[in-house]
Amino acid sequence: MIADLHLHTKFSDGTFSPEEVVELARRRGLAALALTDHDTVEGCGRAAAACGRAGIEFVSGTELTAEHEGEEIHILGYFIDTHNPGLLAGMAKFQAVRQERIRSIVGRLNQMRVPLRPEAVFNLANCRAPGRPHVARALVQAGHCSSLDEAFERFLKRNRPAWVPKFKMSATDAIALLHRAGGAAVMAHPGLTRADRVIPGMVEAGLDGLECFHTKHSTTTTEHYLELADRYHLLVTGGSDCHGLNKGKPLIGTVRLPYRHVAALRAYVIKQRAAPSTALT
Ligand code: AMP
Ligand code: ZN
Ligand code: FE
Ligand code: FE
Repeated sequence: MIADLHLHTKFSDGTFSPEEVVELARRRGLAALALTDHDTVEGCGRAAAACGRAGIEFVSGTELTAEHEGEEIHILGYFIDTHNPGLLAGMAKFQAVRQERIRSIVGRLNQMRVPLRPEAVFNLANCRAPGRPHVARALVQAGHCSSLDEAFERFLKRNRPAWVPKFKMSATDAIALLHRAGGAAVMAHPGLTRADRVIPGMVEAGLDGLECFHTKHSTTTTEHYLELADRYHLLVTGGSDCHGLNKGKPLIGTVRLPYRHVAALRAYVIKQRAAPSTALT
């Protein structure tokens, strides 16, 4: 039995609907999946319903962008209450920041005489959590770039002319937000982030797990993070980080997380919720 706990949909910068993700998961034979859209849980209700019909276990989730000691850290939240008012208020703020950032990026493009309108990006994104991939798609659609890669290379990557830094909450705040919503906080793709030095501090801040299995992790990298998870008594998670058809063939199901890690994650969250003295705070 295998699972994929890192999947994006149209509600952020993926290209599939929740139902399409679940259908592909069914075809790939997944026993469990989690949606982890950036700064939103809007897809979770529909994915849970589709998983119910397909006999797949659904785990609610999200991916937050945070900062710890100057490093950008992505934090996955799992088994969160998707109706938690504090979580929803936090996400509404992050979504507003994302929309404002799109306007700044487009403003920079306009300064470079690339005639794109923010509305073109918003219409194409058609979601509350737009990101740079949507700007890239709009640039390709308008004929300013021939591929998404070119859009990132020429304009959107860090330190390229249209790059605008993103507001990031502290990792401590992100972890606390997820805990208050009854969930577990997991550091996403540490092998991509390459900031192992921040892990002890994040553990101190309440980090619950490490995403050891990820599309961009080699076997050696995965083994390294499995060792770190063991050393710091952290949960182990993994997923493909599938964004749909953004980058060629869909990745869903290509990272094969053994199901026992999902069971361990679930058991951990239930135990934390039941123990008010050591509650997830
Ligand atoms: P944002 O949240 O707006 O900062 O955008 C981050 C998203 O852009 C991530 O989900 C990545 O998948 C995607 N991305 C980042 N860098 C690149 C790149 N060089 N080429 C294509 N996609 C990228
Ligand atoms: Zn993404
Ligand atoms: Fe990420
Ligand atoms: Fe992701």
